[in-house]
Amino acid sequence: MDRPETPHHRAEGGGHAAVPLGTSVRTGAGPVRESGGVGSRWETAFGYSRDFLRNRFVYVVVSPRAHGLSVGINMNPDKQCNFDCVYCEVNRQVPAREQQLEVPVMVRELHQTLGLIRDGRLHDVPALRSLPEELLELRHVALSGDGEPTLCPNFYEAVQGVLHVRALGELPFFKVVLVSNATGLDRPEVQAGLHALSPPDEVWLKLDGGSREYIERIDRPTVALEKVLDNILLVGRQRPIVIQSLFPKLGDAEPAEEEIEAFVARLRDLRDAGARIALVQIYSAMRPTMLPECGHLPLRTLSRIAHAVRAGTGLRAEVF
Ligand code: SF4
Repeated sequence: MDRPETPHHRAEGGGHAAVPLGTSVRTGAGPVRESGGVGSRWETAFGYSRDFLRNRFVYVVVSPRAHGLSVGINMNPDKQCNFDCVYCEVNRQVPAREQQLEVPVMVRELHQTLGLIRDGRLHDVPALRSLPEELLELRHVALSGDGEPTLCPNFYEAVQGVLHVRALGELPFFKVVLVSNATGLDRPEVQAGLHALSPPDEVWLKLDGGSREYIERIDRPTVALEKVLDNILLVGRQRPIVIQSLFPKLGDAEPAEEEIEAFVARLRDLRDAGARIALVQIYSAMRPTMLPECGHLPLRTLSRIAHAVRAGTGLRAEVF
C-alpha cells in the first residue's frame, strides 16, 4: 500500500483531508475545548487512518473537523498537487497506484459504502469495530484526496456522479464538502461543479498564513498567492466558505506574533471584500508528515490564534 497512513486531507482525503488528533485534548467529535479537559476515547477514534474498504477511490475516516464519519473521494489518485506543503502526509516518492479518478467506479463504490453505513455494517470493519455509534454516523461526503481536487481533470463529472447518488434518494441526504487549496476554483469545470451544489453543501479552503513569505515557506506553492486569494474571494462571494488554516510547528519554531497579525489582516481583507466566511478552522500538523521536523503546535498557541481571529475579524473560529 502506498497510501499514507495519515494523509493531509485526511478525513476528507489524503492531501486535504481532515487531520486526526493525537496530542490535542478533545472532548467530543467537534472542535477542541480550548479551556482544556481530559482526553478520552475520541483521541483514539481520530487516530485512525483512512480505510478504503477494498475500494479504489472511496474511503471512510473519522475526522474531527467533520465531527465524525466522513466518506472521502480521492479526486487525485495520481497525487497531483500544485502545493508542496511542509506538513503534507502524502508520500509522493512512492508511485501512485491509479492515474485518474474513474467516475463510474467511484459512483459504484460510493453507493456501496453509503449502503454499508445506512445498514449499520461499518462495525464489521476491524479498524472501526470499537467506535461508538455516534462516530459512525455519516457527516458528509468529501471531495478531497491525495492532491488538489480542483485539478482533477473530470471534476465536473465527479460532482455530477456524487449528486446523482444523492438524488437517487435511497440513502439519507448527505452533505457534500469540497476541500481545496483554492488554486483551481476559477476553472470553468470547477465553477460548473460548484454551481451544481446545494446550499447545505460546503467549500473548505486552505489559507495557511498571512504574509507571502510565511505562506511560501509553509505551502511551497507553484501558484501565486494573489491567485489563491482571488479564488477564495470568487467563491466566498458566491456562497459561504470555511477557511482551513494549518499552523505547523517547525523544529521548535511557532508562528511569530506578526504572522498571526498578518493572517488576521488577510481574513479581514477577504471579509471586507465580500467573502462570506462562515468559519475559520485552526489546527496543526500531525506526525508522521513527510518532513520529520514538522510537528504539532501546543493547544495554547492554536487557541491564541483563534482568539486573535475572533477579536480581529468577528469571524467564528474553532480549534481542532
Ligand atoms: S495542498 Fe498541501 S497538504 Fe494538500 S495535497 Fe497539496 S501538498 Fe499536500
